[in-house]
Amino acid sequence: MKNCAIVGINWGDEGKGRMVDLLTQEYDVVVRYQGGGNAGHTVINEYGKFALHLLPSGIFREGVVNILGNGVALDLANLWTEIESVTAKGVPITPENLKISDRASLVLPWHIALDELEENRLKDKKYGSTKQGIAPFYSDKYQKKTIQAGELFYPDYLVRHLEDLLEWKNLTLTGVYGAQPYTMEKLCAYLHEYGNKLKPFICDTSDWLRSAQAEGKSILFEAQLGALRDLDYGIYPYTTSSNAVAAYAPVGSGLPSAKLDEVVGVVKAYSTCVGEGPFVCEWFGPEAEKLREAGFEYGAKTGRPRRVGPIDIVATRYGVHTQGATTIALTKLDVLSYMEQIPVCAKYVVNGTETEKFPFPAALADAKPVIEYLEGWGCDISGVRTWEDLPKQAQAYVEYIEQSISCHIGYVSVGPERDAYIKR
Ligand code: GDP
Repeated sequence: MKNCAIVGINWGDEGKGRMVDLLTQEYDVVVRYQGGGNAGHTVINEYGKFALHLLPSGIFREGVVNILGNGVALDLANLWTEIESVTAKGVPITPENLKISDRASLVLPWHIALDELEENRLKDKKYGSTKQGIAPFYSDKYQKKTIQAGELFYPDYLVRHLEDLLEWKNLTLTGVYGAQPYTMEKLCAYLHEYGNKLKPFICDTSDWLRSAQAEGKSILFEAQLGALRDLDYGIYPYTTSSNAVAAYAPVGSGLPSAKLDEVVGVVKAYSTCVGEGPFVCEWFGPEAEKLREAGFEYGAKTGRPRRVGPIDIVATRYGVHTQGATTIALTKLDVLSYMEQIPVCAKYVVNGTETEKFPFPAALADAKPVIEYLEGWGCDISGVRTWEDLPKQAQAYVEYIEQSISCHIGYVSVGPERDAYIKR
């Protein structure tokens, strides 16, 4: 039996969905263990092109059981919409191949309202939230002020719990933000509608996972976002509100005793970042526009243009350590084919001193990139499928990154399609 986590090494959008979709063929179970519908994994396969938000990326593989663990932010309405749109393209989703943890906590409509109200209050100091309610949700979860999915099976208990939460939450909505209060009718109607649709999928997934583990099934843990957005280890406060690190996978999946045999860290061949926060090697102007267009760097959830720049070795090395990556999947190498020279951010200068160490978040504002250039390869590599066929300059770029981050690059992706990759 082998357990593996697939995680982002940088700011997210590294192409994790594409790697999970590829690697699920070797696994029996795929578990999402943190985050919510605030990011998107793009997957292209025989069914078409999908932007998955909450569904695990193993949903397309026959025989794979997909689990939404207790660590996720479970937005019932969004999940239902996603299930409808994926099944409409011919992908079967049933309680056999999708299981939702009864211990997953619910994103409630007021979390989404509060996210918007707070971002509006912050104006130009906003965090760049996707307004999916994720930060208000996680803060409520840790205050023990939201609902767990399993409560849907205990209607009387649920109503009493909701009444308490409503009284408390309306104090914030009306008192702090001057917004409209919620009513029990509205909340109950919401939970009735989506709860009834999703109840068949909700079960004790920990129990199920323990049995799967005992039977020797292999489990793939799928993360959302990347190390630099991790609540504890990322560029706080411009992080997400959950732990995106592999170490959280056992806890957030419902199998706290699980051991990770492998951690595949996904790194993009250049840098991208969505939303606010320090981004040391950011490009602006036509240079940025060209890279953004070449990589089609627009948010899968929001359509927002992503901030772009050369690969950041300092941040990537930090991400590799933080994730405990055992292998790297380098994605989107094909996108750099148009460049005559390939820029890399090899070091930072912080307060006049060169460093290879990723600084404390507050020091990032003063960090300047030290850029080095490698030779470009000047041809389309999207059809290449073996290491030997990759141009020497592209090989040199991959090897440069590998040496700089001290981690083996086991996969090089050269296109979004399932088979567009090189295994090393
Ligand atoms: P995720 O959230 O980490 O799964 O990443 P996203 O799905 O947001 O972003 C990755 C994007 O790059 C998607 O549109 C993928 O289809 C695309 N993609 C992934 N790997 C490659 C690759 O090697 N080459 C190209 N050109 N596109 C890729």
